[in-house]
Amino acid sequence: MKFLALLLSFLFIFNAVLTAQQAEQTEAYQYTIDLNKVQEDQLLVELIIPTSISDKDLTFQFPKIIPGTYEISDYGQFVSSLKAYDKKGREFKVERIDQNTWKIDGKKVYKITYLIQDSWDAEIREAVFEPGGTNIEALKNYVLSANGCFGFFENKEKLPYVVTYNRPSNFYATTSLKRIGGDFDSDIFKAQDYHELVDAPIMYCKPDTVNFKLGYGDIQISVYSPNGVVTAKDVAEKVRPMLEAQNQYLGNILPVDRYSFIIYLSPTGYQSGAIGALEHARSSLFCLVEEKPEKISKMIVDIASHEFFHMVTPLYIHSEEIHDFDFVNPKMSKHLWLYEGVIEYMAQHMQTKYGLVSDKDFLVSIRDKVRNSTRFKQGISLTEMSKNCLIEPYSKQYQNIYYKGAIVAMCLDLELLKLSKGKYDIQMLLRDLSGFYGQDAPFKDEELFQKIIEITGFKELQSFFDRYIDGTDIPAYNDFVKPFGLEYFEEAAVDEVSPLGGIENGVLKKDSLERFFISQYEKLDKFGKEGIGFKQDDVILKWDRKPFTLSTASAVLFSYMGVVKAGDDLSITVLRKNDAGEEEELELNLKVTTIPINKKHVFKFTENPTEEQLRMRNRWLTRQ
Ligand SMILES: [Zn+2]
Repeated sequence: MKFLALLLSFLFIFNAVLTAQQAEQTEAYQYTIDLNKVQEDQLLVELIIPTSISDKDLTFQFPKIIPGTYEISDYGQFVSSLKAYDKKGREFKVERIDQNTWKIDGKKVYKITYLIQDSWDAEIREAVFEPGGTNIEALKNYVLSANGCFGFFENKEKLPYVVTYNRPSNFYATTSLKRIGGDFDSDIFKAQDYHELVDAPIMYCKPDTVNFKLGYGDIQISVYSPNGVVTAKDVAEKVRPMLEAQNQYLGNILPVDRYSFIIYLSPTGYQSGAIGALEHARSSLFCLVEEKPEKISKMIVDIASHEFFHMVTPLYIHSEEIHDFDFVNPKMSKHLWLYEGVIEYMAQHMQTKYGLVSDKDFLVSIRDKVRNSTRFKQGISLTEMSKNCLIEPYSKQYQNIYYKGAIVAMCLDLELLKLSKGKYDIQMLLRDLSGFYGQDAPFKDEELFQKIIEITGFKELQSFFDRYIDGTDIPAYNDFVKPFGLEYFEEAAVDEVSPLGGIENGVLKKDSLERFFISQYEKLDKFGKEGIGFKQDDVILKWDRKPFTLSTASAVLFSYMGVVKAGDDLSITVLRKNDAGEEEELELNLKVTTIPINKKHVFKFTENPTEEQLRMRNRWLTRQ
């Protein structure tokens, strides 16, 4: 019996090999990955090439960059051992031209194989932003962004893709791609072209998902929390009210029928030192820290509302540069102020308009944006930075789009409300632009401003665009906010928590062991000096009971800042020299308190607003 079983399985394997060898070429790229077979943190990828690829077309490529990211990532760098064969298994010569390009010297090429390593823990000089990359954790979790797994032949990105994943039978794929086949331990997905494939990352792991309806759309939330700290249900409880507010904010018309939030939580942080998410048409992929739900829910809501709004722009309203995205020689649009600035503003504005955060907190977030914007180089216009965001010196200014871009978007909203006497705002502008353009009707970069003037009928906007978006003028904030019963002060005293005690003011330096220490005690504020009780040369080992290292610091502080309020307990562990000159570990336990702080760029509500100011403020900040 045993023998028979063996013989049978032998026959079966033999048969399977034969079938695999005889897989027919079709019009599509046919890719296969076996997730069960991770070797040295790598996966083998197999491609049966499309019938229309002739012997002249044998330049195989990976993208330099993908939509929604604004830096070069060179995804080919994660590919190795690329081989090409004909149907009889004869191997051809392959030459690697550069990081992303291979030239195959062959006739009737049938199959290509290569290995991919994951970008998340690859040893590379500049880490790739994790939500746009790949993760291979054998039999635990796989994050598979197509740009890090699959290539295309030069100028043949428009052909369809069929991808087969063999997987552990208890694993589940979260993706917005259409599943067209598979069985209990495999999935087959189809994409109409490379663009759609890249636009739909997949996460494979044991399932933890929640589904619900939003308007007419289906929402899915999928969470990978390796230590089971956060569940999809926890996230759904926080995100659902926000999504409902967003849906109303957009006028109850979601431009898509389904949407997936794919959330990976890391207990230790990420190689890039960043956390964040990347938007796609029907999903977004989040890389956040694994923390108790109450600690990360504000962060998730903030990031999720930003990513979700992206379905309006750039995914729906966008320029030709984005529509005909060039993966090899990317060309950038000059309207990042719209794609990122307006979206970031709306993500904040929506939350206060629908009562998810207080008006006061909203004013603090505006202040922080203005303050952050001053840290960047002045004298570069938003359009100039946008057009050139992949090259120096502009790439270092890119982050400012989330600060200056958002503030200018707010000013545009206020200007629209003022010009229309409260009848027209930025939400309506986006709705009108969606009606005029759309997923398959991109605008020309040069015509957008003119089109907005036509749609709104406000010629006055030309000078707004000339000065603040195309030009380098900083808005005189009082001109914009005063009609709404709001005042701007370059500096004013406020009573607030200063959660970091002033370490954010260039106080920290790295020592020879790459640990952070207090190098400029005098720059700490009252809370840092008296509340926390830092001393000169203290090495910070833990913050809020979490290891404070080069790779964890930003994630630790980010999640702490997201929830901290007056009265909270805080524990910080430092290494401090005692009187004998020996280093001692010391736990500083304290309560977070408010201190009178002179803050720059403060926005305050006018104390005795006129009736008209109140009317306009309500129009701006409360749901109508
Ligand atoms: Zn964004």
